[in-house]
Amino acid sequence: MFGEAFKRKYALTDRGVENTKKGTFWTVIVNLVVMGGVSILWLLMSGFMGTLTEGRALPGAAPMMGMVVLFVLLSFVTHLQQYKATYGLVYGEVRDTRIRLAEQLRRLPLGYFGKRDLADLTETIMGDVNRMEHVWSHVLGYLYGSYISTAIIAVCLAVYDWRLAIACLWGVPAAFGLLFGSRKIAARQSERMKEAAVRVSDGIQEALENVREIRASNQEERYLAGLNQKIDEHERITIQGELGTGVFVNAASVIMRLGVATTILVGADRILSGRIDFMLLFLFLMVITRVYAPFDQSLALIAEVFVSQVSADRMTEIYETPVAEGTDAFHPQGHDIVFDHVSFAYDEKEVLRDVSFTAKEGEVTALVGPSGSGKSTCARLAARLWDVTKGSIRVGGVDISTVDPEVLLRDYSMVFQDVVLFDDTVMENIRLGKHGATDGEVLAAARAANCDAFVRRLPQGYDTPIGENGARLSGGERQRISIARALLKDAPIVLLDEATASLDVENETQVQKALSRLLAGKTVLVIAHRMRTVAGADHIIVLENGSVAEEGTPSGLMEKGGLYRRMTELQRESAGWSLG
Ligand code: ADP
Repeated sequence: MFGEAFKRKYALTDRGVENTKKGTFWTVIVNLVVMGGVSILWLLMSGFMGTLTEGRALPGAAPMMGMVVLFVLLSFVTHLQQYKATYGLVYGEVRDTRIRLAEQLRRLPLGYFGKRDLADLTETIMGDVNRMEHVWSHVLGYLYGSYISTAIIAVCLAVYDWRLAIACLWGVPAAFGLLFGSRKIAARQSERMKEAAVRVSDGIQEALENVREIRASNQEERYLAGLNQKIDEHERITIQGELGTGVFVNAASVIMRLGVATTILVGADRILSGRIDFMLLFLFLMVITRVYAPFDQSLALIAEVFVSQVSADRMTEIYETPVAEGTDAFHPQGHDIVFDHVSFAYDEKEVLRDVSFTAKEGEVTALVGPSGSGKSTCARLAARLWDVTKGSIRVGGVDISTVDPEVLLRDYSMVFQDVVLFDDTVMENIRLGKHGATDGEVLAAARAANCDAFVRRLPQGYDTPIGENGARLSGGERQRISIARALLKDAPIVLLDEATASLDVENETQVQKALSRLLAGKTVLVIAHRMRTVAGADHIIVLENGSVAEEGTPSGLMEKGGLYRRMTELQRESAGWSLG
């Protein structure tokens, strides 16, 4: 039970918990061995003192040397073990954690990635794990080990003289108390530091993205001044934050050291009243300097534990997001898509309410409606990128929420506006549609998607790298590549997000022709933004505020004179304006 909570708190794997236990164990042993060294020193000192003050014989050299050699050996072996159990094992933990995160991300519902900023996810896999690496290796074992060894030492000291033991060690809980007390302040400052850092990187990103507009409108100076201000603010907040943590850490360290003063005061009093002898006070003084050492290290690091809590929480949140599961067996009867009383909310707010319709195989079903009415959401649900909140979606009679998303998606092609292209050659980008497709198949698909002509004009034809996310291609060309991909995949269901970006006439006809080849005989669900293109659909679902307002054929809906007709007429008028 304790193990589970510990594991969650520090986002450890099972093996990580085991390793932390080992690290803690060896830290206890190391700290106790160090105390053994202090005891040997003390024995030597009291031997000499005995000789000096009472004329006793000098302690034998051989047993003394023996003890020292034994101490050095023990010290070496235990330090080595501690090193292995902390620094040595953490690299395995870092690797296991990254794999565990990646595995979990692979199994999460795809919709999760729409909700989360991808930069944020990358930051978790790389940055957060790095930050935790330091905590795992440098902090946990040392901190918990030092708690335990100090408790053991405190008991031993108390056996000699409990008053002196308290005088000696009160500073330790006081120092930690102060740090824990300052925890909220540290957390707030770390939050402020993070926000300031995000503002700077947003500002830089924005400047890079809009560099053309900024130059064109002569806004460079104004823009840079704004950016400078953000950077200055970040600097100021970071210094404040570091200073704040530094003040608390150093104050804690000073408080802990006040223990030396109280030990001397209480010790002197007890020597004067004849209750203890000087050598015992001397022993206490030697012990406390050693007790403080591991804590000194931990005090600075404990601040890091507080700050790193944000990282650990983010990782735990990913681990605990429910994954989309389902069977591998998907044998639908045909590929009609049926929405059966579907309701859906991304978070609290319901965005689809009781939506029912059927997209038939061999037909083009168009989703139309004002922006924000839920068209894209319907398409995402149809591919189980998210799971419905109420009702069900069936494909060929099979409830898709029972099917493993990876298996389900084999039957889908998605031609979306934000086509993802990889910085690879044209050939490989198309081949993504079908694993192991031959060059011949790729070329055939490219031709059918009207890519051939423009690809041949590229410097290296199909072997031309297309730049990050297809930077070297026009919008229409990118879309045709994604159509080629879909043609190659030849899946029975096609989800199509009609581009809002207007294509030139040449490109538009090319895309239209390519599409008509892709869509023949499939179950097609189109998210339509322009009423003009919808006229060719077999069936139209008009959405308004997350509900089906009306449905029917284009001509039927025109006659009915509802929302569809109003939208069509509105767009016709607005399309009518021109510069002439
Ligand atoms: P449409 O495609 O018709 O423009 P959407 O399906 O994109 O409409 O959006 C429907 C509603 O859901 C809108 O109110 C939108 O703000 C909201 N929405 C869309 N995507 C998300 C998301 N990932 N998280 C939260 N709300 C969302």
